[in-house]
Amino acid sequence: MTTTQFSTELRGQYKTKAYAASNATSPLVPFTIPRRNPGERDVHIEILFCGICHSDLHQVRNEWSSVPTVYPCVPGHEIVGRVTKVGSAVTKFKPGDYAAVGCLVESDGNCTECRAGLEQFCPHVTFTYNSPDVHLGGVTYGGYSDSIVVKEDFVLRVPSNLNLAGAAPLLCAGITTYSPMRHWGVNKDKKVGVVGLGGLGHMAVKLAHGLGAHVVVFTTSTNKKEDALRLGADEVVISRDPDQMHKHVGSFDFILDAVSTEHDINAYIQLLGRDGNITITGSPNKPYAISAVNLLIKRRSISGSLIGGIAETQEMLDFCGKNNITADVEIIPIQKVNEAYDRLSKGDVKYRFSIDMASLKSQ
Ligand code: NAP
Ligand code: ZN
Repeated sequence: MTTTQFSTELRGQYKTKAYAASNATSPLVPFTIPRRNPGERDVHIEILFCGICHSDLHQVRNEWSSVPTVYPCVPGHEIVGRVTKVGSAVTKFKPGDYAAVGCLVESDGNCTECRAGLEQFCPHVTFTYNSPDVHLGGVTYGGYSDSIVVKEDFVLRVPSNLNLAGAAPLLCAGITTYSPMRHWGVNKDKKVGVVGLGGLGHMAVKLAHGLGAHVVVFTTSTNKKEDALRLGADEVVISRDPDQMHKHVGSFDFILDAVSTEHDINAYIQLLGRDGNITITGSPNKPYAISAVNLLIKRRSISGSLIGGIAETQEMLDFCGKNNITADVEIIPIQKVNEAYDRLSKGDVKYRFSIDMASLKSQ
């Protein structure tokens, strides 16, 4: 018996359908991937919907020099599905339950970050795709697939009133915008700006509105004005218009920047009031140039934020359940994923693609 056979037998695995990219310029095509057989603490999930995040596009096209893509790459970290099997030690889920998985599937569980509920910063975190797979070797494969096996601790409950296709994007776009707003104390007394009305941005508007804030959307797209107001914005600013921008100088408590490409951050820093903060969630590869003087004046700060921990993700889902918040989605079959990527790169989606994974079964 070879070592490979032994290790395969020891861990146990099965094959499942997926869509993968084989290099930075290739389309996503049907591909078969291995998943581990569920262990005693694992939950086996049949994937029903998976959102398409702009990070999927960055990663598939290998646009991040700090996180090189390992091919073949199966993206997808906005996963909602049905539990089909559970291990003997699983207590929170049973077959038939709806369940969700976001950007994280594993961490060491005992470092400072994990103990603080910030698993996303654990030095041994495993992301849902493009991370070393500690069980099977190779890299992890994401949600553009039929099924996934995840440790119970990283599986979330989906409130029963939420539409599943619209709930999927909460697992990344939702938590990525909710977490910094909670961290920076967004509430009914705060004036909050949201820059970029895309997948993240539109969730930020709904969540900030749900938290009671006065919400101002900054968009480059004049045709998104009505949508922004419908989604919960109190005001909309066309960011290419200096007069409209100028009216808000020095007035914001908090601004969340969710733009996917490089742009002038200083235009937003000057809109912050004393001790105001701008948090960057968008992740273009090119560094930003920041005006120091703009930060010194009024003791403003700039920070970043990366998704959120597991407990906070559940808190966000429960908040969305209570306030009936889901993403505005365009549901597509997996066969249209490449078209969706082209459209996403042009900003042509209102406001998230959600893949109906039933379409993969007929592949
Ligand atoms: P998206 O749906 O493509 O939205 C991006 C928005 O940015 C667009 O809708 C557009 O809004 C605005 N925009 C695009 N090009 C612009 C330009 N040249 N100048 C100004 N604004 C522009 O993307 P997404 O899925 O929301 O993701 C946004 C970014 O967040 C991506 O970089 C993604 O990788 C990152 N991300 C980070 C985290 C994290 O944990 N930090 C998590 C998920 C995603 P308007 O039309 O309104 O101007
Ligand atoms: Zn994402």
